[in-house]
Amino acid sequence: MTGGCLCGAVRWSASAPPRNIHHCHCGMCRRWTGGGFATLVWFGDGALVWHGTPAVFRSSPIAVRAHCGVCGTPLYLKYDSRADTAITAGTLDQPQAVTPTHHYGVEGRLAWADIGRDLPGRETRESW
Ligand SMILES: [Zn+2]
Ligand SMILES: [Zn+2]
Repeated sequence: MTGGCLCGAVRWSASAPPRNIHHCHCGMCRRWTGGGFATLVWFGDGALVWHGTPAVFRSSPIAVRAHCGVCGTPLYLKYDSRADTAITAGTLDQPQAVTPTHHYGVEGRLAWADIGRDLPGRETRESW
């Protein structure tokens, strides 16, 4: 799989299929993406190669998030303690190739974020 930001300054490629795909409704993902929720596609760190350099900022005591420093597209979320990285689904060149399987951060879910109604949901332990 491949993907990149809106302007093309940052591209990524993955040599293995994603491990996990879900929607996140937490307030941090909402601010980060500027949308109603985030859809995240998790790849093992060893499978990801970056072309260009994302701008990284610490979004909480346990995680960092990255975006394109030129166009601002949100690119990834990474927890310090984990060996995988969550790529934003909207950056995939072929986003139709992945299928989210559950919701996360359901305590922050907006009533109008009406997507994947039949999928299971979990609360997040990260707060903002
Ligand atoms: Zn860009
Ligand atoms: Zn989130």
